[in-house]
Amino acid sequence: MSEAQAAETVWEPSPNDLESFWMPFTPNRDFKQAPRLISRAKDMHYYAADGRAIMDGTAGLWCSNAGHCRGPIVEAIQRQAAELDFAPNFQFGHPKAFELASRLTTLAPGDLNYAFFCNSGSEAADTALKIALAYHNVTGAGSRTRLIGRERGYHGVGFGGISVGGIAPNRKFFGTALAGADHLRHTYDREHQAYSRGEPEWGAHLADDLERLVALHDASTIAAVIVEPMAGSTGVLAPPKGYLKRLREICDRHGILLVFDEVITAFGRLGHAFAAERYGVLPDIITFAKGVTGGTIPLGGVLVRDHIYQAFMNGPEHAIELFHGYTYTGHPVAAAAGVATLDLYRDEGLFERALALEEMWADAAHALRGEPHVADIRTIGLVAGIDLEPVEGKPGQRGYQAMKTAFHDHDTMIRITADTIALSPPLIIGEDKIGQLFDATRRVLRALD
Ligand code: PMP
Repeated sequence: MSEAQAAETVWEPSPNDLESFWMPFTPNRDFKQAPRLISRAKDMHYYAADGRAIMDGTAGLWCSNAGHCRGPIVEAIQRQAAELDFAPNFQFGHPKAFELASRLTTLAPGDLNYAFFCNSGSEAADTALKIALAYHNVTGAGSRTRLIGRERGYHGVGFGGISVGGIAPNRKFFGTALAGADHLRHTYDREHQAYSRGEPEWGAHLADDLERLVALHDASTIAAVIVEPMAGSTGVLAPPKGYLKRLREICDRHGILLVFDEVITAFGRLGHAFAAERYGVLPDIITFAKGVTGGTIPLGGVLVRDHIYQAFMNGPEHAIELFHGYTYTGHPVAAAAGVATLDLYRDEGLFERALALEEMWADAAHALRGEPHVADIRTIGLVAGIDLEPVEGKPGQRGYQAMKTAFHDHDTMIRITADTIALSPPLIIGEDKIGQLFDATRRVLRALD
């Protein structure tokens, strides 16, 4: 970056400038004392408001998989905004939404041949749950109203998502959530899985928990099970070997729909377009968001298999098949960003690149074993979870400190969930930058109290 450009980025806000924005999932009072402000980005780097280059170790919020401000995506967005800024997708349609749906369903495994669009991962989760309920309704199984998630699961912040989600603070302040949601046990057990690379060997049998819920509630009341193939927001939990296959088998046995929430795992994070491919398991519904536009424009959606779409198409002509959708469903600018992003992933072979780097990434991450405060390290695809020993009586404090130290003192953006550091860089990262990212993380660990 030239000096002139660097000068442009400098922003020195007064406390007043920061007051009005109530920031999400952030200790606002602490942030506003010593803000971490970002004003530009390019490729692997953010640029802080004070002009410093900050290595992006997290692809933003797991979304900037192609890196930042990439020319072809920016140009596609500009072109689309100038040509067609908005058009409804209720009763009307425009080419980009159809094009993106076709591209996504071509990329998806099996007969996941239909795409429905929304604007975020939270909306995608709620859309998937609503489609599952409506599917049973239209196929004469309206008693199937129960939705099963998993402890420690994250499916966004809508009422559906928090009901099947299993991260306590995301639920407990918000009343009773949806009736009829239940949870499988989570799949992490440090005693059996510590320092795992890829899928842990231990734990496939935990899928049998679904049989317990079937016995408890009866299959005739259960609509769907939703899980993240790899749980990201809860601290990077890869599925035990064979777990997802076993879950699929149990769902099949009992007529329960299986939903994979791939909001994080789709678009190369685990080395494939969708994690479903990596695991050779075909869910009935996949949710996606984030990486579909490389984070540039909000867009989410669900992919559904033939039997689901067709069940809705069997009603009378001219009837609306699904009473669901958003003003911005398939927004033209978002759809254009999506098509350009998929082009870039393909042209640069970024999913294959992630797969090729996985071994080296895992070596670099696991080399942090034995550093101060490290309690466990897990790697999968281009993701690493590093658990820190919590400060006694103050859960989350050490993680928060690590994130602040990384940004202010080591020019690196890392993500934390409680006391777990989660690293998930743009897929354009190379071996040298992987080295730099873990060196910075090592220095952060050594600097912590
Ligand atoms: N599902 C999963 C698996 C996620 O990781 C997230 C976001 N981290 C969401 C849903 C929610 O997405 P959004 O924040 O776009 O609503």
